[in-house]
Amino acid sequence: MNAIGIESAPTVNTASHPPASVATHPRDGQASATTPATPTPPRANNQAALAKPLLVGWNYNVVASPRSQILDVEGSFPRGSAKTFSVGDGGEPYVQNVEVQVGGKWSRVPGQRGEWKISACAIGCRIRYRFELRAAAEASGERSVAVLKGDAIQSPPSTWLLRPLHAPKGISLRFQVESAAGESFATGVYPVEGVPHTYEALTQTAAIDLPYAVFGKLRQRSLLNGSVQVALLPGSFRDEAVIYSWIESSAKMVQAFYGRPPISRMMIMVRPVRGNDVGSGSTMGMSGAAIDIAVGERAMDTVLARDWVLVHEMIHTALPEVSRQHRWLEEGLATYVEPLVRVQAGAISEEAVWSEWIAKMHHGLPGPGDEGLNNTRAWGPTYWGGALFCLLSDVAIRQRTNNRFSLRDALRAIVKQGGNISVIWDIDRVIEVGDRATTVPVLREMYEGMGKRSQAVDLPKLWADLGVRKGRSGIVFDDSAPLSAVRRALVQRGAAP
Ligand SMILES: [Zn+2]
Repeated sequence: MNAIGIESAPTVNTASHPPASVATHPRDGQASATTPATPTPPRANNQAALAKPLLVGWNYNVVASPRSQILDVEGSFPRGSAKTFSVGDGGEPYVQNVEVQVGGKWSRVPGQRGEWKISACAIGCRIRYRFELRAAAEASGERSVAVLKGDAIQSPPSTWLLRPLHAPKGISLRFQVESAAGESFATGVYPVEGVPHTYEALTQTAAIDLPYAVFGKLRQRSLLNGSVQVALLPGSFRDEAVIYSWIESSAKMVQAFYGRPPISRMMIMVRPVRGNDVGSGSTMGMSGAAIDIAVGERAMDTVLARDWVLVHEMIHTALPEVSRQHRWLEEGLATYVEPLVRVQAGAISEEAVWSEWIAKMHHGLPGPGDEGLNNTRAWGPTYWGGALFCLLSDVAIRQRTNNRFSLRDALRAIVKQGGNISVIWDIDRVIEVGDRATTVPVLREMYEGMGKRSQAVDLPKLWADLGVRKGRSGIVFDDSAPLSAVRRALVQRGAAP
Protein backbone atom coordinates (compact mmCIF):
# COMPACT_ATOMS: atom_id res chain seq x y z
CA MET A 1 0.00 0.00 0.00
CA ASN A 2 1.30 3.21 -0.43
CA ALA A 3 1.37 6.54 -1.31
CA ILE A 4 2.10 8.95 -3.84
CA GLY A 5 3.31 12.38 -3.40
CA ILE A 6 1.55 12.87 -0.13
CA GLU A 7 3.78 13.58 2.77
CA SER A 8 1.21 12.33 5.17
CA ALA A 9 0.72 9.04 3.44
CA PRO A 10 2.34 6.44 5.58
CA THR A 11 4.85 4.12 4.11
CA VAL A 12 4.32 1.84 6.97
CA ASN A 13 2.66 -1.44 6.71
CA THR A 14 -0.38 -1.41 8.86
CA ALA A 15 -0.07 -5.16 9.05
CA SER A 16 -3.76 -5.16 9.31
CA HIS A 17 -4.67 -6.58 5.99
CA PRO A 18 -6.83 -9.60 6.35
CA PRO A 19 -6.59 -12.60 4.12
CA ALA A 20 -7.30 -10.93 0.95
CA SER A 21 -5.68 -7.71 0.77
CA VAL A 22 -5.62 -3.91 0.82
CA ALA A 23 -5.48 -0.10 0.17
CA THR A 24 -7.34 3.23 0.34
CA HIS A 25 -8.14 6.52 -1.45
CA PRO A 26 -9.53 9.36 -3.76
CA ARG A 27 -11.12 11.02 -6.63
CA ASP A 28 -10.09 13.23 -9.41
CA GLY A 29 -12.87 15.08 -10.94
CA GLN A 30 -16.30 16.39 -10.41
CA ALA A 31 -18.89 14.71 -8.39
CA SER A 32 -21.20 12.63 -10.44
CA ALA A 33 -24.66 11.41 -9.99
CA THR A 34 -25.34 8.53 -7.75
CA THR A 35 -28.33 6.31 -7.70
CA PRO A 36 -30.20 5.24 -4.63
CA ALA A 37 -29.50 1.77 -3.37
CA THR A 38 -32.08 -0.87 -3.28
CA PRO A 39 -33.97 -0.64 -0.03
CA THR A 40 -33.54 -3.41 2.45
CA PRO A 41 -36.87 -3.90 4.18
CA PRO A 42 -37.23 -6.67 6.67
CA ARG A 43 -38.14 -9.90 5.00
CA ALA A 44 -40.69 -12.38 6.13
CA ASN A 45 -41.54 -15.98 5.62
CA ASN A 46 -38.15 -17.57 5.91
CA GLN A 47 -39.69 -20.72 7.13
CA ALA A 48 -41.51 -21.18 3.88
CA ALA A 49 -38.27 -20.82 1.97
CA LEU A 50 -36.57 -23.39 4.14
CA ALA A 51 -39.42 -25.83 4.15
CA LYS A 52 -38.62 -27.04 0.64
CA PRO A 53 -36.20 -29.90 0.45
CA LEU A 54 -32.78 -28.66 -0.53
CA LEU A 55 -30.74 -31.07 -2.50
CA VAL A 56 -27.68 -29.13 -3.44
CA GLY A 57 -25.44 -26.92 -1.39
CA TRP A 58 -25.72 -25.36 2.00
CA ASN A 59 -28.63 -23.05 2.63
CA TYR A 60 -29.01 -20.70 5.56
CA ASN A 61 -31.61 -18.38 6.88
CA VAL A 62 -30.24 -15.78 9.25
CA VAL A 63 -32.44 -13.54 11.42
CA ALA A 64 -30.68 -10.68 13.19
CA SER A 65 -32.11 -9.35 16.44
CA PRO A 66 -32.08 -5.58 17.12
CA ARG A 67 -28.53 -4.19 17.31
CA SER A 68 -27.36 -7.59 16.11
CA GLN A 69 -27.16 -8.99 19.59
CA ILE A 70 -28.03 -12.42 18.29
CA LEU A 71 -28.22 -14.14 14.94
CA ASP A 72 -30.77 -16.94 14.83
CA VAL A 73 -29.66 -19.26 12.08
CA GLU A 74 -31.22 -22.25 10.39
CA GLY A 75 -29.26 -24.24 7.87
CA SER A 76 -29.82 -27.22 5.66
CA PHE A 77 -27.24 -29.53 4.19
CA PRO A 78 -27.55 -32.17 1.50
CA ARG A 79 -26.99 -35.89 1.74
CA GLY A 80 -23.33 -36.74 1.90
CA SER A 81 -22.32 -33.76 4.03
CA ALA A 82 -19.45 -34.25 6.44
CA LYS A 83 -20.47 -34.76 10.06
CA THR A 84 -18.10 -32.39 11.79
CA PHE A 85 -19.26 -28.78 11.85
CA SER A 86 -17.61 -25.56 12.92
CA VAL A 87 -17.27 -21.86 12.12
CA GLY A 88 -14.32 -19.62 11.22
CA ASP A 89 -11.48 -19.32 13.71
CA GLY A 90 -12.46 -17.18 16.67
CA GLY A 91 -16.21 -17.58 16.18
CA GLU A 92 -16.56 -20.91 18.00
CA PRO A 93 -17.30 -19.64 21.54
CA TYR A 94 -20.26 -17.64 20.28
CA VAL A 95 -22.12 -20.55 18.70
CA GLN A 96 -24.89 -21.61 21.08
CA ASN A 97 -27.83 -24.02 21.27
CA VAL A 98 -26.96 -26.12 18.25
CA GLU A 99 -29.84 -28.45 17.37
CA VAL A 100 -30.49 -30.89 14.59
CA GLN A 101 -33.89 -31.94 13.32
CA VAL A 102 -34.40 -35.68 13.35
CA GLY A 103 -37.78 -37.25 12.59
CA GLY A 104 -39.48 -33.90 12.89
CA LYS A 105 -38.04 -33.23 16.35
CA TRP A 106 -35.21 -30.92 17.30
CA SER A 107 -32.49 -32.38 19.47
CA ARG A 108 -29.52 -30.70 21.04
CA VAL A 109 -26.01 -31.28 19.69
CA PRO A 110 -23.26 -30.76 22.24
CA GLY A 111 -20.15 -28.96 21.10
CA GLN A 112 -16.66 -30.02 21.94
CA ARG A 113 -13.56 -27.92 21.45
CA GLY A 114 -15.29 -25.72 18.92
CA GLU A 115 -16.69 -28.58 16.86
CA TRP A 116 -20.12 -30.16 16.61
CA LYS A 117 -20.54 -33.77 15.46
CA ILE A 118 -23.84 -34.05 13.60
CA SER A 119 -24.10 -37.62 12.31
CA ALA A 120 -27.56 -37.06 10.82
CA CYS A 121 -26.01 -34.80 8.21
CA ALA A 122 -24.58 -37.77 6.36
CA ILE A 123 -28.06 -38.31 4.96
CA GLY A 124 -28.89 -34.62 4.73
CA CYS A 125 -29.96 -32.50 7.66
CA ARG A 126 -31.46 -29.33 8.99
CA ILE A 127 -29.83 -27.55 11.92
CA ARG A 128 -30.44 -24.41 13.92
CA TYR A 129 -28.34 -22.40 16.37
CA ARG A 130 -27.75 -18.96 17.76
CA PHE A 131 -24.70 -16.86 17.20
CA GLU A 132 -23.91 -14.20 19.81
CA LEU A 133 -22.66 -11.65 17.36
CA ARG A 134 -22.44 -8.62 19.61
CA ALA A 135 -20.61 -10.56 22.28
CA ALA A 136 -18.18 -11.78 19.64
CA ALA A 137 -17.54 -8.24 18.43
CA GLU A 138 -17.11 -6.89 21.93
CA ALA A 139 -14.69 -9.61 22.89
CA SER A 140 -12.78 -10.07 19.66
CA GLY A 141 -12.24 -6.80 17.87
CA GLU A 142 -10.42 -8.75 15.16
CA ARG A 143 -11.73 -7.88 11.76
CA SER A 144 -11.40 -11.46 10.62
CA VAL A 145 -13.83 -12.38 13.43
CA ALA A 146 -16.11 -9.51 14.44
CA VAL A 147 -15.57 -5.88 15.27
CA LEU A 148 -17.74 -3.02 16.48
CA LYS A 149 -17.92 -0.08 14.10
CA GLY A 150 -19.85 2.51 16.02
CA ASP A 151 -23.07 0.70 16.74
CA ALA A 152 -22.75 -1.49 13.65
CA ILE A 153 -21.00 -4.83 13.67
CA GLN A 154 -18.67 -5.92 10.92
CA SER A 155 -18.03 -9.62 10.65
CA PRO A 156 -17.45 -11.90 7.67
CA PRO A 157 -20.18 -14.52 7.17
CA SER A 158 -17.53 -17.22 7.53
CA THR A 159 -17.42 -16.29 11.22
CA TRP A 160 -21.07 -17.08 11.91
CA LEU A 161 -22.11 -19.72 9.38
CA LEU A 162 -21.80 -23.14 11.02
CA ARG A 163 -20.78 -25.60 8.33
CA PRO A 164 -19.20 -28.95 7.57
CA LEU A 165 -15.47 -28.64 8.09
CA HIS A 166 -14.75 -30.71 5.03
CA ALA A 167 -16.36 -29.77 1.77
CA PRO A 168 -15.49 -30.42 -1.82
CA LYS A 169 -14.61 -27.45 -3.97
CA GLY A 170 -17.57 -25.76 -5.61
CA ILE A 171 -20.25 -26.31 -2.97
CA SER A 172 -22.79 -23.50 -3.01
CA LEU A 173 -23.11 -21.68 0.28
CA ARG A 174 -26.22 -19.56 0.16
CA PHE A 175 -27.53 -17.38 2.95
CA GLN A 176 -30.48 -15.11 3.36
CA VAL A 177 -30.40 -12.38 5.98
CA GLU A 178 -33.39 -10.80 7.70
CA SER A 179 -32.42 -7.59 9.42
CA ALA A 180 -34.09 -6.10 12.49
CA ALA A 181 -36.54 -3.27 11.87
CA GLY A 182 -34.76 -0.06 10.88
CA GLU A 183 -31.48 -1.86 10.31
CA SER A 184 -29.88 -3.46 7.29
CA PHE A 185 -27.15 -5.76 6.15
CA ALA A 186 -24.40 -5.45 3.57
CA THR A 187 -21.72 -7.83 2.39
CA GLY A 188 -19.12 -8.22 -0.31
CA VAL A 189 -20.40 -11.73 -1.04
CA TYR A 190 -22.17 -11.81 -4.39
CA PRO A 191 -25.95 -11.42 -4.12
CA VAL A 192 -28.26 -13.93 -5.78
CA GLU A 193 -30.02 -12.23 -8.62
CA GLY A 194 -33.75 -11.95 -8.14
CA VAL A 195 -33.76 -13.27 -4.60
CA PRO A 196 -33.80 -10.40 -2.11
CA HIS A 197 -31.31 -10.31 0.76
CA THR A 198 -29.72 -13.53 -0.41
CA TYR A 199 -26.04 -14.10 -1.12
CA GLU A 200 -24.07 -16.99 -2.48
CA ALA A 201 -20.47 -18.14 -2.24
CA LEU A 202 -18.77 -21.19 -3.66
CA THR A 203 -16.30 -23.16 -1.58
CA GLN A 204 -12.83 -22.89 -3.07
CA THR A 205 -10.57 -24.27 -0.38
CA ALA A 206 -11.06 -25.99 2.94
CA ALA A 207 -10.63 -22.66 4.69
CA ILE A 208 -13.63 -20.50 3.93
CA ASP A 209 -12.94 -16.81 4.40
CA LEU A 210 -15.69 -14.68 2.99
CA PRO A 211 -15.61 -10.92 2.40
CA TYR A 212 -16.72 -8.52 5.10
CA ALA A 213 -20.33 -8.19 6.07
CA VAL A 214 -21.90 -5.53 8.27
CA PHE A 215 -25.11 -5.31 10.29
CA GLY A 216 -26.59 -2.05 11.53
CA LYS A 217 -28.12 1.25 10.59
CA LEU A 218 -26.50 1.66 7.20
CA ARG A 219 -27.04 4.09 4.34
CA GLN A 220 -26.52 2.20 1.11
CA ARG A 221 -26.08 3.25 -2.49
CA SER A 222 -25.34 1.64 -5.78
CA LEU A 223 -22.89 3.44 -8.11
CA LEU A 224 -21.63 2.94 -11.66
CA ASN A 225 -24.32 0.54 -12.81
CA GLY A 226 -24.05 -1.53 -9.70
CA SER A 227 -20.35 -2.30 -10.05
CA VAL A 228 -19.73 -0.34 -6.88
CA GLN A 229 -21.92 -0.66 -3.80
CA VAL A 230 -21.47 1.65 -0.87
CA ALA A 231 -22.54 1.14 2.72
CA LEU A 232 -21.97 4.08 5.04
CA LEU A 233 -21.64 2.88 8.61
CA PRO A 234 -23.31 4.71 11.50
CA GLY A 235 -22.07 8.23 12.07
CA SER A 236 -22.18 11.29 9.89
CA PHE A 237 -20.10 13.10 7.35
CA ARG A 238 -19.98 16.83 6.90
CA ASP A 239 -20.82 16.24 3.26
CA GLU A 240 -22.04 12.79 2.31
CA ALA A 241 -22.27 13.64 -1.39
CA VAL A 242 -18.54 14.28 -1.41
CA ILE A 243 -17.94 10.78 -0.06
CA TYR A 244 -20.00 9.19 -2.80
CA SER A 245 -18.36 11.20 -5.56
CA TRP A 246 -14.90 10.34 -4.23
CA ILE A 247 -15.72 6.65 -4.30
CA GLU A 248 -17.21 6.95 -7.76
CA SER A 249 -14.30 8.84 -9.25
CA SER A 250 -11.81 6.43 -7.66
CA ALA A 251 -13.65 3.51 -9.20
CA LYS A 252 -13.80 5.25 -12.57
CA MET A 253 -10.05 5.74 -12.57
CA VAL A 254 -9.45 2.09 -11.77
CA GLN A 255 -11.97 0.94 -14.35
CA ALA A 256 -10.29 3.13 -16.97
CA PHE A 257 -6.90 1.59 -16.23
CA TYR A 258 -8.20 -1.95 -16.51
CA GLY A 259 -10.55 -1.17 -19.37
CA ARG A 260 -13.47 -2.58 -17.39
CA PRO A 261 -14.65 -2.98 -13.81
CA PRO A 262 -12.11 -5.38 -12.30
CA ILE A 263 -14.93 -7.22 -10.57
CA SER A 264 -18.64 -7.12 -11.30
CA ARG A 265 -19.47 -5.87 -7.81
CA MET A 266 -17.40 -4.47 -4.98
CA MET A 267 -18.85 -3.42 -1.66
CA ILE A 268 -17.23 -0.38 -0.06
CA MET A 269 -17.87 -0.08 3.66
CA VAL A 270 -17.12 3.43 4.82
CA ARG A 271 -16.66 4.10 8.48
CA PRO A 272 -16.75 7.71 9.68
CA VAL A 273 -13.93 8.48 12.09
CA ARG A 274 -12.72 11.69 13.73
CA GLY A 275 -10.77 14.12 11.67
CA ASN A 276 -10.66 15.06 8.03
CA ASP A 277 -8.39 12.48 6.45
CA VAL A 278 -8.67 9.05 4.92
CA GLY A 279 -7.59 6.34 7.31
CA SER A 280 -6.57 2.79 6.72
CA GLY A 281 -8.26 0.38 4.37
CA SER A 282 -8.34 -3.32 3.77
CA THR A 283 -9.92 -5.64 1.26
CA MET A 284 -11.30 -9.14 1.44
CA GLY A 285 -12.28 -11.33 -1.48
CA MET A 286 -13.60 -14.83 -2.25
CA SER A 287 -16.95 -15.06 -4.00
CA GLY A 288 -17.13 -11.28 -4.09
CA ALA A 289 -15.15 -8.36 -2.70
CA ALA A 290 -15.47 -5.93 0.18
CA ILE A 291 -13.33 -2.96 1.04
CA ASP A 292 -13.32 -1.54 4.52
CA ILE A 293 -12.13 2.03 4.79
CA ALA A 294 -12.09 4.67 7.50
CA VAL A 295 -12.81 8.25 6.46
CA GLY A 296 -12.70 11.41 8.56
CA GLU A 297 -16.17 12.76 9.19
CA ARG A 298 -14.96 16.24 8.24
CA ALA A 299 -13.26 15.10 5.02
CA MET A 300 -13.57 17.58 2.19
CA ASP A 301 -13.27 17.02 -1.53
CA THR A 302 -9.84 18.63 -1.63
CA VAL A 303 -8.54 16.05 0.83
CA LEU A 304 -10.26 13.16 -0.87
CA ALA A 305 -8.86 14.24 -4.24
CA ARG A 306 -5.36 13.55 -2.90
CA ASP A 307 -6.19 10.22 -1.35
CA TRP A 308 -4.47 7.12 -2.67
CA VAL A 309 -5.78 4.54 -0.25
CA LEU A 310 -9.10 3.72 -1.88
CA VAL A 311 -7.47 3.33 -5.31
CA HIS A 312 -4.92 1.00 -3.74
CA GLU A 313 -7.69 -1.12 -2.22
CA MET A 314 -9.65 -1.20 -5.46
CA ILE A 315 -6.56 -2.42 -7.31
CA HIS A 316 -6.47 -5.35 -4.92
CA THR A 317 -9.80 -6.48 -6.33
CA ALA A 318 -8.17 -6.77 -9.77
CA LEU A 319 -5.91 -9.71 -8.94
CA PRO A 320 -6.93 -13.25 -7.97
CA GLU A 321 -6.09 -14.33 -4.49
CA VAL A 322 -2.70 -15.96 -4.47
CA SER A 323 -1.08 -17.86 -1.63
CA ARG A 324 0.32 -16.13 1.46
CA GLN A 325 3.80 -16.70 0.10
CA HIS A 326 2.97 -14.40 -2.78
CA ARG A 327 1.50 -11.56 -0.81
CA TRP A 328 4.34 -9.41 -2.18
CA LEU A 329 2.63 -9.65 -5.56
CA GLU A 330 -0.70 -8.43 -4.16
CA GLU A 331 0.84 -5.55 -2.24
CA GLY A 332 3.57 -4.76 -4.74
CA LEU A 333 1.09 -4.57 -7.57
CA ALA A 334 -1.25 -2.27 -5.67
CA THR A 335 1.68 -0.10 -4.61
CA TYR A 336 3.01 0.14 -8.18
CA VAL A 337 -0.25 0.49 -10.06
CA GLU A 338 -1.95 3.00 -7.77
CA PRO A 339 0.07 6.04 -8.94
CA LEU A 340 -0.20 4.84 -12.54
CA VAL A 341 -3.98 4.74 -12.25
CA ARG A 342 -3.99 8.25 -10.86
CA VAL A 343 -1.50 9.77 -13.26
CA GLN A 344 -3.28 8.23 -16.24
CA ALA A 345 -6.50 9.75 -14.96
CA GLY A 346 -4.75 13.10 -14.67
CA ALA A 347 -5.15 13.17 -10.89
CA ILE A 348 -1.44 13.60 -10.17
CA SER A 349 1.61 14.75 -12.10
CA GLU A 350 4.23 12.61 -13.76
CA GLU A 351 6.84 14.24 -11.57
CA ALA A 352 4.97 13.13 -8.45
CA VAL A 353 5.12 9.51 -9.57
CA TRP A 354 8.87 9.57 -10.31
CA SER A 355 9.56 11.52 -7.18
CA GLU A 356 7.93 8.88 -5.04
CA TRP A 357 9.54 5.99 -6.84
CA ILE A 358 13.00 7.50 -6.60
CA ALA A 359 12.42 8.22 -2.92
CA LYS A 360 10.96 4.87 -1.96
CA MET A 361 11.72 2.12 -4.44
CA HIS A 362 14.96 1.36 -2.58
CA HIS A 363 12.88 -0.08 0.29
CA GLY A 364 12.35 -3.04 -2.02
CA LEU A 365 16.01 -3.85 -2.63
CA PRO A 366 17.14 -7.18 -1.22
CA GLY A 367 19.29 -7.07 1.86
CA PRO A 368 22.10 -9.43 2.87
CA GLY A 369 20.83 -12.98 3.22
CA ASP A 370 17.57 -12.32 1.37
CA GLU A 371 16.22 -15.36 -0.40
CA GLY A 372 13.75 -13.80 -2.78
CA LEU A 373 10.32 -12.23 -2.40
CA ASN A 374 8.60 -15.56 -1.76
CA ASN A 375 10.66 -15.97 1.37
CA THR A 376 10.09 -12.71 3.13
CA ARG A 377 7.31 -11.23 5.20
CA ALA A 378 8.93 -7.88 5.91
CA TRP A 379 7.26 -4.64 4.92
CA GLY A 380 9.97 -3.34 2.56
CA PRO A 381 10.17 -6.37 0.27
CA THR A 382 6.42 -7.02 0.48
CA TYR A 383 5.31 -3.56 -0.63
CA TRP A 384 8.30 -2.04 -2.39
CA GLY A 385 10.04 -5.26 -3.43
CA GLY A 386 6.78 -6.23 -5.08
CA ALA A 387 6.53 -2.75 -6.61
CA LEU A 388 10.09 -3.02 -7.91
CA PHE A 389 9.22 -6.38 -9.46
CA CYS A 390 6.35 -4.65 -11.27
CA LEU A 391 8.43 -1.65 -12.37
CA LEU A 392 11.24 -3.82 -13.74
CA SER A 393 8.70 -6.04 -15.48
CA ASP A 394 6.93 -3.06 -17.00
CA VAL A 395 10.21 -1.58 -18.27
CA ALA A 396 11.33 -4.93 -19.71
CA ILE A 397 8.02 -5.60 -21.44
CA ARG A 398 8.06 -2.16 -23.01
CA GLN A 399 11.70 -2.40 -23.95
CA ARG A 400 11.33 -5.80 -25.60
CA THR A 401 8.15 -4.92 -27.47
CA ASN A 402 9.12 -1.37 -28.41
CA ASN A 403 6.41 -0.01 -26.15
CA ARG A 404 3.78 -2.04 -27.94
CA PHE A 405 2.85 -3.84 -24.74
CA SER A 406 3.12 -3.06 -21.07
CA LEU A 407 2.37 -4.54 -17.68
CA ARG A 408 -1.09 -3.02 -18.02
CA ASP A 409 -1.84 -5.40 -20.89
CA ALA A 410 -0.93 -8.34 -18.68
CA LEU A 411 -3.14 -7.05 -15.88
CA ARG A 412 -6.03 -6.36 -18.22
CA ALA A 413 -5.81 -9.89 -19.61
CA ILE A 414 -5.89 -11.40 -16.13
CA VAL A 415 -9.01 -9.43 -15.24
CA LYS A 416 -10.60 -10.18 -18.59
CA GLN A 417 -10.21 -13.89 -17.91
CA GLY A 418 -12.03 -13.57 -14.62
CA GLY A 419 -8.90 -13.25 -12.52
CA ASN A 420 -10.10 -11.01 -9.74
CA ILE A 421 -10.14 -11.22 -5.96
CA SER A 422 -13.30 -13.32 -5.93
CA VAL A 423 -11.27 -16.36 -7.00
CA ILE A 424 -8.04 -18.11 -6.11
CA TRP A 425 -5.39 -18.62 -8.77
CA ASP A 426 -2.03 -20.26 -8.63
CA ILE A 427 0.72 -17.71 -9.27
CA ASP A 428 1.81 -19.71 -12.32
CA ARG A 429 -1.55 -19.06 -13.92
CA VAL A 430 -1.28 -15.35 -13.19
CA ILE A 431 2.13 -15.32 -14.85
CA GLU A 432 1.06 -17.37 -17.84
CA VAL A 433 -1.98 -15.26 -18.63
CA GLY A 434 0.04 -12.09 -18.20
CA ASP A 435 2.94 -13.22 -20.35
CA ARG A 436 0.66 -14.45 -23.11
CA ALA A 437 -0.94 -11.02 -23.32
CA THR A 438 2.37 -9.21 -23.74
CA THR A 439 3.95 -11.84 -26.04
CA VAL A 440 7.16 -11.86 -24.01
CA PRO A 441 7.92 -14.12 -21.00
CA VAL A 442 9.02 -11.25 -18.81
CA LEU A 443 6.86 -12.09 -15.79
CA ARG A 444 8.15 -15.67 -15.81
CA GLU A 445 11.76 -14.56 -15.97
CA MET A 446 11.27 -11.91 -13.33
CA TYR A 447 9.51 -14.36 -11.06
CA GLU A 448 12.31 -16.89 -11.38
CA GLY A 449 14.83 -14.14 -10.68
CA MET A 450 13.21 -12.07 -7.92
CA GLY A 451 10.44 -14.27 -6.56
CA LYS A 452 12.27 -17.51 -6.00
CA ARG A 453 15.68 -16.08 -5.26
CA SER A 454 17.36 -12.85 -4.52
CA GLN A 455 18.53 -10.68 -7.37
CA ALA A 456 20.66 -7.57 -7.19
CA VAL A 457 19.12 -4.48 -8.76
CA ASP A 458 21.08 -1.40 -9.71
CA LEU A 459 18.53 1.33 -9.09
CA PRO A 460 20.77 4.33 -9.87
CA LYS A 461 21.53 2.74 -13.24
CA LEU A 462 17.82 2.13 -13.86
CA TRP A 463 16.97 5.78 -13.20
CA ALA A 464 19.88 6.90 -15.39
CA ASP A 465 18.84 4.59 -18.24
CA LEU A 466 15.27 5.85 -18.00
CA GLY A 467 16.53 9.43 -17.93
CA VAL A 468 15.06 10.61 -14.67
CA ARG A 469 16.70 12.07 -11.60
CA LYS A 470 15.91 14.21 -8.63
CA GLY A 471 17.29 17.70 -9.16
CA ARG A 472 17.56 20.58 -6.71
CA SER A 473 14.13 21.86 -7.47
CA GLY A 474 12.33 18.76 -8.55
CA ILE A 475 12.40 15.93 -11.01
CA VAL A 476 14.59 16.35 -14.09
CA PHE A 477 14.12 14.32 -17.27
CA ASP A 478 16.79 13.46 -19.81
CA ASP A 479 15.39 12.63 -23.22
CA SER A 480 18.77 11.49 -24.52
CA ALA A 481 18.82 8.55 -22.08
CA PRO A 482 18.68 5.11 -23.71
CA LEU A 483 15.25 4.22 -22.24
CA SER A 484 13.70 7.66 -22.34
CA ALA A 485 10.98 6.47 -24.73
CA VAL A 486 10.06 3.76 -22.26
CA ARG A 487 10.01 6.32 -19.46
CA ARG A 488 7.70 8.66 -21.33
CA ALA A 489 5.26 5.87 -22.17
CA LEU A 490 5.43 4.37 -18.71
CA VAL A 491 4.27 7.39 -16.77
CA GLN A 492 2.00 9.41 -18.94
CA ARG A 493 -0.45 11.85 -17.51
CA GLY A 494 -3.91 11.55 -18.99
CA ALA A 495 -3.01 8.35 -20.89
CA ALA A 496 -6.00 6.27 -19.84
CA PRO A 497 -7.60 4.37 -21.39
ZN1 LIG B 1 -2.62 -3.31 0.10
